[in-house]
Amino acid sequence: MAQLSLQNIQKSFGSFQALSDVSLDIASGEFICLLGGSGCGKTTLLRIIAGLEEQTSGQMMLDGDDLSAVQCHKRNVGMVFQSLALFPHLNVGQNIAYGLEVRGVDKAKRLERARKLLDVVGLSGFFDRPVSALSGGQRQRVAIARALAIEPTLFLMDEPFSALDAGLREHLQIEVKKLQRKLGVTTIFVTHDQNEAMSIADRIVILNEGRIEQAGTPTEVYACPQTRFVADFMGTNNIFSPEFTPGGPALLDGTPVGTPTGDLKDFSGLYTIAVRPEYLSLKAVTDQTRGLVGTVGFVRHLGASIETELSVAERTFVHTMVSDRAPEFAVGDRAEIVCDLDHAWVIPS
Ligand code: ATP
Repeated sequence: MAQLSLQNIQKSFGSFQALSDVSLDIASGEFICLLGGSGCGKTTLLRIIAGLEEQTSGQMMLDGDDLSAVQCHKRNVGMVFQSLALFPHLNVGQNIAYGLEVRGVDKAKRLERARKLLDVVGLSGFFDRPVSALSGGQRQRVAIARALAIEPTLFLMDEPFSALDAGLREHLQIEVKKLQRKLGVTTIFVTHDQNEAMSIADRIVILNEGRIEQAGTPTEVYACPQTRFVADFMGTNNIFSPEFTPGGPALLDGTPVGTPTGDLKDFSGLYTIAVRPEYLSLKAVTDQTRGLVGTVGFVRHLGASIETELSVAERTFVHTMVSDRAPEFAVGDRAEIVCDLDHAWVIPS
């Protein structure tokens, strides 16, 4: 178990600043996801923690000791990359035991540990298999077992499942989460996939252009985005800036979009808000309709729910409803969009 503290980490490549002022405390046994788009600095931060890259400035403390002072091979970090880099000339068991051999653990012990880990990742009986005779998912499990064999202080994973099909990816996400919980190892997992982060992280750290935009539990970053970027990146919000009138409806370009009765009731002026798709409702347009009217552009059947996308001039709104209660609108239909502003989230910045 290990507690990691990153303090003002900066990283420059020449004149390009890849990381700016990254500060983060990671609790012992916590499962952190670094989430962000391509080039935001996720891998660079992971590599700095692993010792594969050196920060330009800033401090890293592991259980109160300066981690930067420890050489890469002495950091006791278990890593799994997208490209697994299993050794093709070694069989499964030898791959898993390799790190222990390098550390001088005697043969009987390392083989015993390799067998135990094969059980843990659900591959008992695969010990003598050549790695070339494994499926993609089995190779991933071997890579995970190999990283865990050394009983790492920190377990780091860089997009480990991105090359796998959706079903297998979901299956392994659940397995890795259960395994991490069982072992209690402090884990940092890099992904650009918000659903993956939502499903496995204790805490999601959203990076943008080398800075932390927000760190919070999956529920916090989804429901309470602190910045417009986070709200956009989490991808599930209707984000717009209506004008609030105390005691009356909020107006988007002069048209009512909903009337708050709770916290936002007495707001006055323009605020940027996020409204989740499940808090929109759609109504048939009649002669009496005075609210916001959109045109249905897309209807997506997702099994348990139906998602309807509507456009209002240049804006897009997304509505979700459980399938058996979803209104029946087809592409091209017009519908009034009413927002439940008692469930709107005001984006602070
Ligand atoms: P992706 O999801 O695409 O892998 P990322 O968030 O992991 O992206 P990084 O690999 O950390 O991004 O890269 C962050 C930025 O730093 C990018 O703009 C990248 O081009 C740059 N960068 C990374 N390594 C180097 C390097 N060795 N020299 C110069 N620039 C680099």
